[in-house]
Amino acid sequence: MTRIGFIGLGIMGSPMASHLVQAGHEVLGYTLNSDAYQRLEADGGRSAGSIAEAVKDAEIVITMLPNHPQVEEVVLGEDGVFAHAPEGALLIDFSTIRPESSVAIAEAGGKAGFRVLDAPVSGGQAGAEQGVLSIMVGGTEFDFAAATPIFEAVGKTYIHVGPHGAGQVVKAANQLVVGGTYALVAEAIVLMEALGVDAGKGLDVLAGGLAGSRILELKRKSMVAREFAPGFRIDLHHKDMGIIADASRQADIALPTAALVTSLIAAGRAQGYGALDHSALLKVIENLNGRGEK
Ligand code: NAD
Repeated sequence: MTRIGFIGLGIMGSPMASHLVQAGHEVLGYTLNSDAYQRLEADGGRSAGSIAEAVKDAEIVITMLPNHPQVEEVVLGEDGVFAHAPEGALLIDFSTIRPESSVAIAEAGGKAGFRVLDAPVSGGQAGAEQGVLSIMVGGTEFDFAAATPIFEAVGKTYIHVGPHGAGQVVKAANQLVVGGTYALVAEAIVLMEALGVDAGKGLDVLAGGLAGSRILELKRKSMVAREFAPGFRIDLHHKDMGIIADASRQADIALPTAALVTSLIAAGRAQGYGALDHSALLKVIENLNGRGEK
């Protein structure tokens, strides 16, 4: 059993914290939206009134926050994790943030006597609820090994992909494939419906062939039914496309399809869909074709 301070109990963090409690760990959670405390306490975890309280006795600190400004504030801030956690504690940041921020946090942690892993996840809300996330981990082999029981409790696939920041690079690649796939599935639905074919039946066939994917498996029914409750918000995917754009510029490489997907996701935000699930890219493609809600 490990004492864990868990910060950020949102769509992903809340079920992940519950899985850690169920695996026998002692979880003390802190978040800004206090709705999530009910679930944590019902599952056997405890709520903290501040970051300091959540981490003061922690062996492992977990963060699952929206983006790098929140992670930097929570971890590096005056009243943050490094100011209050016991020296030697291991910080596992499951958030998706830009690689250079993960590297900077690891360096600051090292100087202050903390160990740090970047460990962004894939698998969406369903993966978090089922405890079957895919986890891409950057940091040292030693810390990766120490974190294995945590990854075991929330994930199914977890791989040490390289040094600090490498987890975030792999996550950027993941978001590129996910965004591009959603855009193409959206276009496939619009194409089939425009030609009078039942898109639900069509996607059932696609899901069983070479075009099959986890996105088709999990999301084809809700997309055809136009159910876009998040899930993974367009706002967050917009953030991730920015990470991909910055990373590709730094690497001096061209990613033409990424550029197109970035614009489609930005259009979704501009059209007011930022709080909807990223499968709402379907609405963007429909609007492009004059087939949206009138
Ligand atoms: P979310 O907005 O539902 O949750 C974020 C949580 O952090 C919220 O509960 C918020 O209250 C809390 N928070 C924000 N600032 C805080 C602060 N200063 N102190 C304490 N708590 C604070 O977001 P999410 O969908 O759970 O995503 C979290 C991260 O995981 C993001 O980086 C996202 O890109 C990534 N991610 C999300 C999904 C998904 O399907 N939702 C999948 C993979 C990765």
